[in-house]
Amino acid sequence: MSELENITKLTAEFPLVFARGIRCASGFDDGWYPLIRQLCADIEKILAGLNPEERAIFRVSQIKEKFGGLVFSTRMQTTTANNQIFDLVYLAEEPMVYEQILDLVSKAEERSRQICEVCGEDGARREGNWIRTLCDTHANGAARYEGTRGCPGG
Ligand SMILES: [Zn+2]
Repeated sequence: MSELENITKLTAEFPLVFARGIRCASGFDDGWYPLIRQLCADIEKILAGLNPEERAIFRVSQIKEKFGGLVFSTRMQTTTANNQIFDLVYLAEEPMVYEQILDLVSKAEERSRQICEVCGEDGARREGNWIRTLCDTHANGAARYEGTRGCPGG
């Protein structure tokens, strides 16, 4: 799949996680798909336990690769028209929601640094034109990313 097809597939499978779309997705390669899919499944489960008002606060702002690691950024705060701030930290009846989500995200980001982004095998940080986490096979030049990656301004 292409990097953006991976995002499209996730947004279709996890309607609560991506209810507010995604601000910027530069995509990721297939090797990380199972890791990110599991992360989304875990967050979807947490969001399903919230009421719709709370759920609407959550947003995925970015999914991308940076310096060889996954970056999965979320927003769990929103400002209403009259500048009132709603924050999942305070609003959710389940007080640990915010921490639970951040914990899941940071574990997945950590884990991504040991998984080849191309094939999902054990990988390590490789420095080239573009720093990526790759297995020995894919580090052998073949999978070096030549395009431009990343989000505008980030
Ligand atoms: Zn590989």
